[in-house]
Amino acid sequence: MLTASETDELKRRLEADLSRLVANAHAAIGFTMDRDRDRIGRDSMDESTEEELYSTQLRLHDRENFLIAKIQDALKRLQAGEVDECEECSEPIGFKRLMARPVTTLCFECKTAREQVEADEAAE
Ligand SMILES: [Zn+2]
Repeated sequence: MLTASETDELKRRLEADLSRLVANAHAAIGFTMDRDRDRIGRDSMDESTEEELYSTQLRLHDRENFLIAKIQDALKRLQAGEVDECEECSEPIGFKRLMARPVTTLCFECKTAREQVEADEAAE
């Protein structure tokens, strides 16, 4: 079990990560809107570069949304007192591991077992 001060520290960490990601997501939405505004009354010069930039931005945005959801989940688990409980084996996850990777839901042993699967996912 985490102590009250550990819980507090983890909560501040998660909230800091969340506000940073939300700020980035807003910047991405701003980019999308600028781009749509730009298109009105402008010909299609450099369309391919523009398309490329746009799709990169969208992919980043997807990743940010994914991370935002993970952090919100972690905060919910923290509130419920379950943030340090491994979802696989129900053993406690150490505070150091949580601070290194606040959105983790697995203890080190279960994470190691899943590592190959996640490496494959990340490669996509
Ligand atoms: Zn476990």
